[in-house]
This record gives sequence, structure tokens and C-alpha cells, in this order.
Amino acid sequence: MLLSDLKTGEKGIIVKVNGSGAFRKRILEMGFIKGKTIKVILNAPLKDPIKYKIMDYEVSLRRSEARLIEIVYPDINKKEEVKSVHNSFNISTSDEQEPISPIAKKTTNSKKVITVALVGNPNAGKTSLFNIASGAHEHVGNYGGVTVDSKEGKFKHGGYTFRIVDLPGTYSLSAYTPEELYVRNHIVEEKPDVVINIVASSNLERNLYLTTELIDMEVPMVIALNMYDELEQGGSEFNYQKLSKMIGIPMIPTVAKTGVGIGELFDAAIRIYEDKEPIVRRVHIYYGNTVENAISKLNIQLEKLKDIKLLFPRRYISVKLLEKDKDVEKYVNSFPSNKELFALRDAEVKNIEDTLKEDTESVLTDARYGFVAGGLKETLKGKTNESDATSLIDAVVTHKYLGFPLFFFFMWVMFECTFRLGGYPMEWIESGVELLGNFVRGVMSDGMLKDLIVDGIIGGVGGVIVFLPNILILYAFISFMEDSGYMARAAFIMDKVMHKMGLHGKSFIPLVMGFGCNVPAILASRTIESRNSRMITMLINPFMSCSARLPVYLLFVGVFFKSYASLVLFGLYVVGILLAVISARLFKRYLFPEEDTPFVMELPPYRIPTVRSVSIHMWDKSRQYLRKMGGVILVASIIIWFLGYFPQNEERETQFDNQIALVETQFNQNTISETDKDDQIEQIEDLRNIEHQENSYIGRIGKTVEPVMRPLGFDWKISVSLLSGMAAKEVVVSTLGVLYTGDPDNQESLKARISNDVQPDGALTFTPLVVLSLLLFVLIYFPCVATIVAIKEESGSWKWGAFSIIYTTGLAWIISFAVFQIGSLF
Ligand code: GDP
Ligand code: MG
Repeated sequence: MLLSDLKTGEKGIIVKVNGSGAFRKRILEMGFIKGKTIKVILNAPLKDPIKYKIMDYEVSLRRSEARLIEIVYPDINKKEEVKSVHNSFNISTSDEQEPISPIAKKTTNSKKVITVALVGNPNAGKTSLFNIASGAHEHVGNYGGVTVDSKEGKFKHGGYTFRIVDLPGTYSLSAYTPEELYVRNHIVEEKPDVVINIVASSNLERNLYLTTELIDMEVPMVIALNMYDELEQGGSEFNYQKLSKMIGIPMIPTVAKTGVGIGELFDAAIRIYEDKEPIVRRVHIYYGNTVENAISKLNIQLEKLKDIKLLFPRRYISVKLLEKDKDVEKYVNSFPSNKELFALRDAEVKNIEDTLKEDTESVLTDARYGFVAGGLKETLKGKTNESDATSLIDAVVTHKYLGFPLFFFFMWVMFECTFRLGGYPMEWIESGVELLGNFVRGVMSDGMLKDLIVDGIIGGVGGVIVFLPNILILYAFISFMEDSGYMARAAFIMDKVMHKMGLHGKSFIPLVMGFGCNVPAILASRTIESRNSRMITMLINPFMSCSARLPVYLLFVGVFFKSYASLVLFGLYVVGILLAVISARLFKRYLFPEEDTPFVMELPPYRIPTVRSVSIHMWDKSRQYLRKMGGVILVASIIIWFLGYFPQNEERETQFDNQIALVETQFNQNTISETDKDDQIEQIEDLRNIEHQENSYIGRIGKTVEPVMRPLGFDWKISVSLLSGMAAKEVVVSTLGVLYTGDPDNQESLKARISNDVQPDGALTFTPLVVLSLLLFVLIYFPCVATIVAIKEESGSWKWGAFSIIYTTGLAWIISFAVFQIGSLF
């Protein structure tokens, strides 16, 4: 029978995994091997995907994928323990004097720097360990794939300087995903002095699979038994000293969250580096007679290549050749005698598959899992790791009827808090900025410098700084969702919906992150394995309205749609999401019409986010925001001010001065009253302002693009603001702040200035219709330079960067055009 036939709560034993390629490989590595028990935990609200428990961890699969796994439905639904196929502990110590592994760097141990690479499964705590050891503030999250880049840190310990690198999480070191390849290349090319293999102790069986691959690569290694606190809480007893001796690798229990064991861990790393660790012993994973025979034959063939300095240990190359590893095949292809090698390999693969009636990938995976199971059998007691809290929470948040309402409720709370709660500190900052502006205006003497400071700097930067509270709150929520593990559940319940769009449940995470900032969100789409889904996710990400667009919305919504502000804001986000959905379907249909990836995703147990990690994340984001304030926005404000201030036209100024003088004279001769005089002077000043701005550099630029923007309802000032917003969307607000200067004797808030601004013909510049058209335009057009660069980097070509610019800006124009033109009819 098939895995998909099992009902909730039932168990089955895996007999065979069908399917092909990446899916099969991944699923084998994640522990779906012959003889393992698998249990159905629950269905997502839309009946798909399904959450299973295997090897003590939880993973979700789509129904279509579960159909590829054959199981037997035995009476184990009563009986508990299932025997694994291989559970004898098979180690062969290598006594043949092989040359030292090419990866184990031969060092003279004289330099005082030790390079360390952190390698481990997603969510094992690598980044937490990296942070606590090096004092860095990298982002941790409770789901797979938060770290997508490598990060380097430095610190001193035990007389050495450690240079440690935090690598992306991987389940294995085969070459199926970019991460796996990346980590393997890092180990081969950078040759770290010591590899710290971080293992989640709460789920040893699956985590140690990666360890077996590292053993094959013969890297100098220490194992960090991280999350040891969770293992102990679960009531398990783990004789790690014994296992450590058996496999010849030091193991150190750690709790990266609090720092327990970190010192000992790096002490062990030093002993490895100095060759003083007594435990170290080279062991081999024993793959069974048939495979071992094949490995020996291949080894002999490889040995003949005396003049080639191999990148990997011989045994590793042989094993990977048998496993049909594409990357190693490519490497071997570069050898002169590759034909014989491949011929031998093919013959051996055929022999193994005929003898064992199974393909080599499963044979080798089984053997590795057998190795792990054997080791744990003798050392780990009482291992069932039933996290009651997690299953309880999951029963609620992924419930058939409650799942979606709860999800939307959380989203709603997030928005309400961001906008409503954030509104209070925003008002305080706003009045602070106003006070500062008026104060400076009062104390400084007239002149260019005063204009620059008040109109350019305070007007520009001040207009943006007020949104800091909103951004802090938004990030607090995003970071809480990531850290607790809820984000992975959101992906779980959303998978069916995302699948309809041609995407993957995992695409959901980058899309939600896009509400914070599109740039890290685009980087986060790296965890999606299929290139097609990844490309679509990246290209629609700009429609997720990022926090930089928020200031623009808040400014206009606060003035023009005050009584139903939340609704309009929510509407904007929804429009963005709808456009993303429609675009995704279009892209899927016309640009990337291929099969999508399997939905194999680990669902980590819920963890209470530490105040520390949430606040670090918030702090980092606000620092970035403030840095933008001091950088891009300040510079942009000054440039915009400059372009608006110059050229000064003496002749015109004198004309206006003369007109004012004339009014003064009339008043002195008592031909007009005092109020008349003031009115007239104000009119002249207004005219002077308008004339000046229109003739300034920026006015000319604006006038040039105005014809294109007019049909959308935008005057030249709005056009200029939108142009400047290409650097970063917040700049739209600061530019408006500089351009709409308003009454020079009163530093009114920007809100007041825009609501009073009139066109030369006396009509208000901003009507609700213009504002609506503008808001949509800001939502949709050119995301920002950084986003485009991120798309280019991640897609590997400028083509997609350019595509994104044209697509978004074109779409923005069409939609704003339609809204403004149709709206004008009423
Ligand atoms: P990475 O994906 O390997 O980089 O893992 P992270 O460092 O992002 O951590 C994953 C999750 O595990 C986070 O929620 C951490 O707070 C949590 N975590 C990390 N180390 C420990 C630990 O030793 N004990 C416990 N209980 N939780 C931990
Ligand atoms: Mg990480």
C-alpha cells in the first residue's frame, strides 16, 4: 500500500521509495528508508500537505508525494518498536596506511589562527552558536533555511584566534541543492582546519546522517551535541562518550542558546588542530560486502592516477561515483583516464543493483542510516521525543477549521499593531521634528545655509524618521513568527494555495518576509529547491509591500483617508498580493512552465523565542533603517534640495521684490488696508515660489517627464518624487518634504503642506483620486535599486533584473492610468 493511504494516527513501515531525481534523493536522506516507521500526525486544513513523524521529527509531504512511497501496514499499529534493516554497528577502522586525506590540511601548527566551518542540518543551531561564540548578531530562526550565505566571525580562545564561518544548513552533502554544493565546495576549497559538525541532540538519528558524509570526506572534526537541554528534558540518556569513542570523533554537549559547553567545544577544536585529541581515530562507514568490493576496485583504479592530486579522498570519490553524484562525476570527467573509470563504475553499479535488487542510492543511504542506528542503539536510551506542547499547538494552529482563521487573525493583529500602536510614537516624533524645524528657523539668520538645513535636511530626513516605530513593530512580529516556528506552519497550511499559483509552501516564507524588506526576502527564496519556483517567487516578491513603502502610504492615508485608514492600508497590501498571484500564474504559464519541487519540509518543534534574539533582530533592522537615514536619504534630500534651489534668477527675484515694494507703498499711502496688503504679499510670495520651482533644475526634470505622468494625475513634483524613490521608496516622502515647502514662516507638518497645496490653476494638487492612483503606483513600480540588484544576483543575470524593472513599472503605469481615468469620469 501507499503512504498516502494511511489515515491520521496510523503507522506504516516503509518498504520502497519511488520517484526520481532530487525528490527521491532528498527523501532518502531525510530518513525515508526501508524499515523505518512512519506515522501520520495530521492533515493541513486543506487536506494537503500532510504532516508525518519519522525518526522522531516532523516533516510535511504533499499527498502526491506520499503516493510515491510504498509502505506495509502491519500490526505495528499495536506493537511499538520496529527493527531497522541494518542495525548492527558496522565500522571498519582503516589500518591500511593511506596517504593523509587531501581535505585534512597538513599544517605545521605554528600559526595562531584556526579556521573553523560550522556544518549541520538546517535549524540545528549553527547561527546561534556562531553568534554566541563570535559575538555577532546574525539572524536565527526556527525553520530551515534562514542562513543562506556564509558569514564569517572572529574571536580569541585558548591562545588562538578562531575564524569561524557559519554555513547554510544541509541534510547531506550530495549536490542536489545549491546549499549542499556550497557547503561541500567550502570544505574542499577553503579547507577549514576544523569542521564543527552541529547536531541537534533532540533528533540525533537524522542529524548524524550528515556526520557520516563528513566521516567519508575525512575532515578533521568535532561534533557539537547542540540543544542538549532538549535531549535532557525529554528524559533521554545518551552515553555520548561511548559513541564518541566508537566513531573516533570528540563530542561535546552544548546549548548554543545560552552558551553552555561552547568553551569546551573550542578547546576540543584546539586539540584536534594540535593533533592532541586522544579520541581521534579514522573510521570508515561499512557499506556491506558487495559495495565495499566495488569501492576497492574503484580505489585501485583511482590509485593509478598518481600524478593527479585528488581534491577528495579516494574512498569518497568511489562512494560518490557509485551514488551517481553529478558534481563528482563532473570532476572525474576531467581526468585523462575517465573512460575506464566510468566503465568500471557502471559495471559495479549494475552488479550491486542486480545482487541487492535495489538502486545504489538507496543501498548507500540505508548503510549510512544503518551505521547511525547501530551507534545509537548502544548509547541512547528512552528516546521517544514526544513534545506535548508542539503537538498541542499544532493541533490548534493547523486545525481543519481553526487553522486559516487563526492565521488571518495573526496577520490582522500584526497590521493593527504596526499601524495603530505605531501611530502614537509616530506623532511624538513628528511634533519633535516640527519643533526642531521651527527652532532652527528662529535662531538662524536668513540665507542659503538656513534653507538647506530647514527645508533640505530637516524636511527630508524628518519626513522619513517618523516611521521608525512602525518598522520596529513590524519586525518584532516577523521575527517572533520566525523564531517560534510558526512561520513553518504558515508554509504548511498555505502550501495547497501556493501550489495553485505554481509555487511552493516554502515560497510563502520569502513572500511574508517581503513585507519587511524585499532584499532579504529575495535572498531567502534560495531555500526553494526548484529553480522555476524560486524564480517566480523572486520576481513576484516586489509586489509584497515592503516597509519602505509604508511611510508613503501612512503619509497620504493619514491625510486623505483618515476615517478608514486601516482598511485602505490593508487594501493596498491585498492589491499587492493579488498582483503577485496573477503574475505568478502568468510567469508559471509563459516563462517557467515546468514541474515544481516536492514539498518536503521539516516542521521544527515550537521554541519560545528569546527576548534577546527578537530584540537583536529589531535592533538590527532599525539600525539599518537609521543608517539609510544618514546615508541615502540624507544625500538624496540634499541633492533634491539643491536641484530645487538652483538656479537662482536675480532678474525675476528683483521683479517680485519690486511688486512687493509697490504694495508696501500703496499701503503707506493708505490706498489699501493692512489685510489687503498681507493678502497681496502672500499671493506674490506664492507666485514667486511656484515660478522659482518650475524654473529650477528639478522643475525642468519634472516637466520633462510630466507628459507621461499627467494621465495618472501626477504633477511634476510628484513625478520627481517618484523618480527619486527609485533609490529607496522612503525617499519619495523626503522628496515631497523638500518640494512642497509650503508657507515659509511656519514649519507645518508635511501632512498639512500636501493637503493645502494647489496647482497654478487653483485646483488642489492632491485629491483622493490622485492619491489613490499615486499609492497604487508606489506599491507597484520599480521596487528599488537594492531589490533589482538582489534579483540580478540570485537569478544570475541582468536579464531578470531588467525584466523586473520593465514589468513592475509598466504594470504600475497601466493600473494607475486605469484608476485615474476611470475615476475621473465620475
Ligand atoms: P541554524 O538554522 O542551524 O542556524 O539554527 P538557528 O541558530 O537559527 O537556531 C534554530 C532554533 O533553535 C532557534 O529558534 C534557536 O533559538 C534554537 N536553539 C539554538 N540552539 C539551541 C539550544 O542549544 N537549545 C535550545 N533549546 N534551542 C536552541
Ligand atoms: Mg542559520
